[in-house]
Amino acid sequence: MASGFQTRLERLQRPLRIAARDNFRELEATPNLGVALCRAAREVGGALGEQGRELLDYAAKLEGFDDSSRVERVRLVALGLRLCAGLGSDRPTPTERKSGRSGVTPRSRPGQAGGLAKEKSQLTALRGVGPRVAESLARRGIHAIEDLLCFLPLEYIDRRRETSLDRLVEGQPATTSGVVIHKTTRRARGRRMLEVGLATAPGGRVLLACVWFRTFPGLSDRFKEGERVGVSGVVRRYRDQLQMVHPDLIDDGGHGVRRRYPEVEGVAPRVIERLCADACARFVDEVDDGVPAQVAREAGLPAQADAVRALHLQQRDHEPAPEELKLLNRGVHPAHQRLVFDELFSLQLAVALRKAAWGERAGRPCALSDATWARLREILPFTLTGAQRRCVEELRRDMALARPMHRLLQGDVGSGKTAVAFAAAAAAIDAGMQAAVMAPTEILASQHLQTMEPWARALGWRAAMLTASTPRGVKESLLALADAGQIHLLVGTHALLSPRVSLPDLGLAVVDEQHRFGVLQRVRLRERPPGEPLPHLLLMTATPIPRSMALAVYGDLDLSVVDEKPPGRLPVQTRLYVGREQRRAYDLVGEELRQGSQAFVVCPLVEESDKLDVADAVGTAARLQELFADHRVGLVHGRLGARERAEVMGAFRRHEIDLLVATTVIEVGIDVPRASVMVVEHADRFGLAQLHQLRGRVGRDSKKSHCLLLTDAAPGSVAAERLGVMVRTDDGFEIAEADLRIRGPGEVFGTRQAGLPRLRFADLGAHMRLLALAQRHAAGTVERDPELALPEHQAALRVMRRRWEGIELVGEEAG
Ligand code: ADP
Ligand code: MG
Repeated sequence: MASGFQTRLERLQRPLRIAARDNFRELEATPNLGVALCRAAREVGGALGEQGRELLDYAAKLEGFDDSSRVERVRLVALGLRLCAGLGSDRPTPTERKSGRSGVTPRSRPGQAGGLAKEKSQLTALRGVGPRVAESLARRGIHAIEDLLCFLPLEYIDRRRETSLDRLVEGQPATTSGVVIHKTTRRARGRRMLEVGLATAPGGRVLLACVWFRTFPGLSDRFKEGERVGVSGVVRRYRDQLQMVHPDLIDDGGHGVRRRYPEVEGVAPRVIERLCADACARFVDEVDDGVPAQVAREAGLPAQADAVRALHLQQRDHEPAPEELKLLNRGVHPAHQRLVFDELFSLQLAVALRKAAWGERAGRPCALSDATWARLREILPFTLTGAQRRCVEELRRDMALARPMHRLLQGDVGSGKTAVAFAAAAAAIDAGMQAAVMAPTEILASQHLQTMEPWARALGWRAAMLTASTPRGVKESLLALADAGQIHLLVGTHALLSPRVSLPDLGLAVVDEQHRFGVLQRVRLRERPPGEPLPHLLLMTATPIPRSMALAVYGDLDLSVVDEKPPGRLPVQTRLYVGREQRRAYDLVGEELRQGSQAFVVCPLVEESDKLDVADAVGTAARLQELFADHRVGLVHGRLGARERAEVMGAFRRHEIDLLVATTVIEVGIDVPRASVMVVEHADRFGLAQLHQLRGRVGRDSKKSHCLLLTDAAPGSVAAERLGVMVRTDDGFEIAEADLRIRGPGEVFGTRQAGLPRLRFADLGAHMRLLALAQRHAAGTVERDPELALPEHQAALRVMRRRWEGIELVGEEAG
């Protein structure tokens, strides 16, 4: 889970990303965006202490956002995104420190960002950087020259287009300068504020007042009466006075275009500018370029050195035209794209190499005989859908080969992946081997056993389950039986990953709802020393994965999609109950219960406090038992032991309970066909993909089902708007795309957890085109040079290794 700070940051980043997408199309569509952004920026700024000044300034600028021109809003959104990128990249968070333990190391470490010789990569190699400045830079995540080269200006200010002080137009952004006539500090609304009046000449009339509601040490000293200062900001009118609130200060005397970098505590902006220029001039050509020259050329992107120079405005004899500045300010300059491509290329290079390496391992051919396949279809209590049959055929073909399968079986909730997985297991067992099925929760594992055990028995095979709560004695004999090849199908949870579990004849490992495990967590169970054949691997997921994500994370897997639901299912009726409407939701629940249906009521996990979360669920259960006195209300939550939980679930399945109140523990996989109502309390606290999963718990029958989403969010608010997606569509892919856009890959997939390196510039939700381009070029590169042995690929290989450092990958060879 994200730390508090990350969560806050995302709360700011997300709406900014949405606003920026499709060429800022959403700017018009989101009411009161400024208010929300402003609040979020304050929160992030507040959480940062002294370092947050920049964000607080930004928040102040957002105050007039909703009334500003489109041009100005675009500028502010772009600025916000760059501010966030600067914060997200290198700040160690509690999450990160924690993940360090599990072998994931933060990407940027001193001297690790590029390929400079050690002594050259040190910041102290720059003129004017002593230990004190180096320490200040380090606090901002800048440890080495390479980090400084990636420390990009937030804004490019065109001083060539200065507006004279007497020509300012209300509502327009402007860069201007004037002479300080007065400087006043006073308290307003309990805060210290600074006001500076500017005129065209000493003694003249004040034409512009610059106002800071939030001051910081040293600010006031930057103004001396009678001296000229330059400012940049949006011109507003307050009473009869034109003013700028929290303008940017522009040191006078500069010419041309000015760069404004994020603030670094303890280092003057001028110094930062000079250091970046110095780093560009002396070192930029020596840093490892992660993209081979040929690829950059073919992709039509500049070399890294040129891109970095362009972003720091350090190209010789080049003054950017206003049009180019616009691109720079919006973060869509080819130089930006080059940095984005760079990260995506590293990502795809790793994927391509992994795929090539897997291609070389020997596998264990497991052919499913036609006779067993026919018997299996007789045993199943239903006729397989076309999609299920197609997926089984794909698996059969893969598994019959003497090279290990790496396949992802993707299918919306309720599409019937279990039967497909069982057919794959049957292929392994039919070939005289064993199969293992791993599920993320005990509830789900026991459900799998309940489903598959009778099928296995009918075919003459032995199935068993191993979880953390398997009693000691049972466990010992189970392990011995498994080791002796006496158990054909072993179902379980994480417990299967224990080194004590040995399945010597393993032919197939299945991982269900595998994103729950951390996407690329090693499946230790199937690892074999180099040289020994590798069992087949089948990953299953019900989270429809947008194409970009699939490329980035699963680019090395073959894909089977169960894209058809079992027949006779009606779409689930989804309704949104906003604010005061919520009271009416339970009328419908009562109605359904009276007709003999069963219902789920899901309460969200309360962040960082499962105590509260339990209290909430307990309270809801009590309230509902009172409301539905004639019905039986049950409760499951994360605090219950596995046995108690299984008991309650069993009772619900047997219809000894009518209404089940639950925290998100029921999110994945639970299959109770008689349940026809899913109520989600505080639905706005869930991601859309999660809600889709929850909704998939009902509608598993030919009876009409309902999904009721309850929220306290105000009607018309962004939160309520977002939930509208659920009402509009039932298509898991569409929902996943929306979720990815709105919440970002970090929240949807847990980028860290997904085993992806931290992306500083790239955004998987937004850079689809570049991602596809990167994939093509990475595949091409590995095809030409499968070991990346050619000299021209060495830099790219080093960069890739450093970025992926310490992240464990599925299928990685043991030892
Ligand atoms: P998921 O893909 O979410 O894991 P399951 O495998 O749990 O889906 O299947 C969901 C429900 O659909 C189960 O009750 C299962 O028995 C039923 N089912 C699966 N395949 C079919 C089919 N071809 N015809 C009818 N019902 C099916
Ligand atoms: Mg399932």
